[in-house]
Amino acid sequence: MDKIITIVGARPQFIKAATLSRQFLIRGIDEKIVHTGQHFDENMSQVFFEEMEIPKPAYNLDIHGLSHGAMTGRMLEGIESILQNEKPDGVLVYGDTNSTLSGALAASKLQIPLIHVEAGLRSFNMQMPEEINRILTDRISNVLFCPTDTAVANLKREGFDAMPVQIIKNGDVMQDAAMFYAESAMLKSSIIKKIGFKKFVLATIHRQENTDSPENLRNIIHGLDQINKQIPVVVPMHPRTRNILAHNFQLPEFTIIDPVGYFDMIMLLKSCELVITDSGGVQKEAFFFGKHCITLREQTEWTELVDNGFNILVGSNSEKLQSAFDILKDRKSDFSLNLYGRGHAAEIAAKEIQKI
Ligand code: UDP
Repeated sequence: MDKIITIVGARPQFIKAATLSRQFLIRGIDEKIVHTGQHFDENMSQVFFEEMEIPKPAYNLDIHGLSHGAMTGRMLEGIESILQNEKPDGVLVYGDTNSTLSGALAASKLQIPLIHVEAGLRSFNMQMPEEINRILTDRISNVLFCPTDTAVANLKREGFDAMPVQIIKNGDVMQDAAMFYAESAMLKSSIIKKIGFKKFVLATIHRQENTDSPENLRNIIHGLDQINKQIPVVVPMHPRTRNILAHNFQLPEFTIIDPVGYFDMIMLLKSCELVITDSGGVQKEAFFFGKHCITLREQTEWTELVDNGFNILVGSNSEKLQSAFDILKDRKSDFSLNLYGRGHAAEIAAKEIQKI
């Protein structure tokens, strides 16, 4: 393939796309980026393009703030007309957002080969919008790049090895990003000075199952406030969570900051004592930077982290959160295990894409 259209729209996709865009440039593959507009705030979008030197999107559909169905439908329409004009050799989508699914549908309906990076992940929880997006996207993809052995096994279990598709384990592109940008982060970020804590716990909360359930959110806030009495808890707050908190809740005691750019996030991950999150990406990044993680979900797609003792799942239960904290704060682990490749996932994927 010589000409690729990449669809991105949400924060984690900018971070993933940064790694492959660089490889496309190195190899002379013509890539045009379509930004759906799903995340649009300066600190949820633009900062990543600037810091990570991601090529400026050729198109921005500016679609956000709608219900899941309306958002996906409007993106599908917008992406379809771009693909009809551009006639790329392939369409590349990342992860599991509405932007992923709409890009996948647009490509497959025009019979343009579809490449899915971060294929095969499953939480087995069909209540999660992300689970629906990833299952449907995998099913209509032609090339499936899997980050882990578990992801490959999931696809095989669903019968993908009997289908005319390519399944390639390439490792995790987020590992590539963490390794590539760590040095720039060290040089350019001043977040640790700004927050002013020597020791702290880093937490993020944004999954719909937590933000949209007042009971779950109340339990999580209570749990984090309890931990905050023992060690400062710092939360770069996702706009969705901040909105809900502002309207429905008493202000928490822990420290809330605005969402941070990737360089600041790397420094927070490197410098914290422990991570508490419901994010998919942040669970892995905790591991990349040698930190234990407590996950505010009942399941994870990154099961190898739990199986190897790096991560404990607690859902939204504040007592379980406290006991996991008590266990992990003194646990010593060897983080050198190779679970996600050694930073070559994007290179492997770009080479394969060039061969097609
Ligand atoms: N992230 C960031 N700034 C923040 C919070 C998260 O740069 O304030 C990064 C984080 O390091 C990870 C990605 O955003 O690379 C994860 O995105 P998110 O948690 O929104 O999505 P998920 O991974 O759950 O799909």
